[in-house]
Amino acid sequence: MRILVVEDDPALSKQIVEALGAGGYAADRAGDGEEGHFLGETEPYDAVVLDLGLPKVDGLTVLRRWRQAGVAVPVIILTARGAWHEKVEGIDAGADDYLTKPFRLEELLARVRALIRRSHGHAAPDLERGHLRVEMRTGRVTQNGEVVALTAHEYRVLVYLLMKRGQVATRTDLTEHIYAQDFDRDSNTIEVFVARLRKKLGDGLIETVRGFGYRIDPP
Ligand code: CA
Repeated sequence: MRILVVEDDPALSKQIVEALGAGGYAADRAGDGEEGHFLGETEPYDAVVLDLGLPKVDGLTVLRRWRQAGVAVPVIILTARGAWHEKVEGIDAGADDYLTKPFRLEELLARVRALIRRSHGHAAPDLERGHLRVEMRTGRVTQNGEVVALTAHEYRVLVYLLMKRGQVATRTDLTEHIYAQDFDRDSNTIEVFVARLRKKLGDGLIETVRGFGYRIDPP
């Protein structure tokens, strides 16, 4: 899962990106509304954290432009304390959730998890399939009750496929959703991650759909 953070306060932006990274997400940063708007319209994010007070183009305008262009990504807006009208305007402009500054990073992460879960139609907080369980809050993966150690990229591939259970994910989809933008991407590494996941979790979990990509369970 890959998140865009649009925030002009460099220290806060860095903290958010680091917290998202520790939470198992790939995260990109934009420091103004223009860059944020461009990235949100051209890259397939799973969620966006959008500050409203931004240089160049303000956050509300960015959000309205995305929604007018049909960009349906879940968006959490960051609003100033006491500015209740910002929340109303933000939600009317297409925001899915809001957080008032200052906030705890734990709360932001919880809201991101909930948004992504809902956008994929999952009701339960954890991802489960048979004896495999991924605790989204802690990133703990267990199979038959035993902890399975995964690298950050293996974890992201697994979570993406479980979120999209029943659907085929192409190698391009996986590449776009597990790496941050500045990462040196190579879609061949997806095969390596899938092979390692099969070794750790068994052959029966991830199916290769020839000519298309990978899938967990048929529709
Ligand atoms: Ca700001």
